[in-house]
Amino acid sequence: MTVLELRDVVKEYKLREGLRTRKLRAVDQVSFRLEPGRTIALVGQSGSGKSTIAKLLMQLERPTAGEILVNDKPMVYRGSRAATYRKAVQMVFQDPFASLNPYHTVGHHLARPLRLHHPGLSREQLADRVLELLRRVRLDPAEDFVQRKPHELSGGQRQRVAIARALAPSPGILVADEPVSMLDVSIRLGVLNLLATLQREENLGVLYITHDLATARHFSDEIMVLYRGEVVERGPADDVILNPQHEYTRLLADAAPDPERRLAELKR
Ligand code: ADP
Ligand code: MG
Repeated sequence: MTVLELRDVVKEYKLREGLRTRKLRAVDQVSFRLEPGRTIALVGQSGSGKSTIAKLLMQLERPTAGEILVNDKPMVYRGSRAATYRKAVQMVFQDPFASLNPYHTVGHHLARPLRLHHPGLSREQLADRVLELLRRVRLDPAEDFVQRKPHELSGGQRQRVAIARALAPSPGILVADEPVSMLDVSIRLGVLNLLATLQREENLGVLYITHDLATARHFSDEIMVLYRGEVVERGPADDVILNPQHEYTRLLADAAPDPERRLAELKR
């Protein structure tokens, strides 16, 4: 089974330049298949089209051409099947400070999607499910976090709450757009390890969006290198890193000096 498939997906934006309009292909004929329990890294510099792909998956944009399939069915934008789709694909954003509401407790952030996607839950069941989510993202002891507000949490703890919230609807796919790039270097590895554990233990398909080849290699099965909206190189993570075919991949590898050293830094 394939949880997520893109077939020749194109996204064009129209840009105004004075009296003329120009088309910009933010995503150009991108195709890939994501299987359950696998991680694909989408790697590219700023402006290469990574977030546009995330927006297409979140239905914030629609493709200009091509097809997106979830669980082997074409994406639907309206009606009850659209709701099923939105449940299946969940997102973790870059900025854990902006993605949580400062006025709401951790418990509220998690109870809301649980109630929405599992309307039959009783109050007690809901409270149990909130605790269970907190344990799944290793916020321990879970009871201590329920009543806290975002400002009482560290960046890493906030990102764990954001991940717990993404897990609430029981998705098959997690899209993580630069999930650790705003966190302190010292806590990045912990959050990436959590995503890896969830992918493995819960059979999630993970699309890991990053500009960092070192973590892409460590945390994914497959790497796709995106350059100006196009996939210019793809393959098993080690092959792409150890034997890059495309000039741009080599440039990216050089920009992240030495993957082993970078990982050693992260682990410190
Ligand atoms: P990345 O996430 O890799 O940094 P983006 O997907 O955000 O890249 O952007 C890809 C390209 O599309 C960039 O050139 C960007 O300027 C352009 N772009 C993104 N969103 C829009 C938009 N809403 N309107 C016009 N151009 C856009
Ligand atoms: Mg981006």
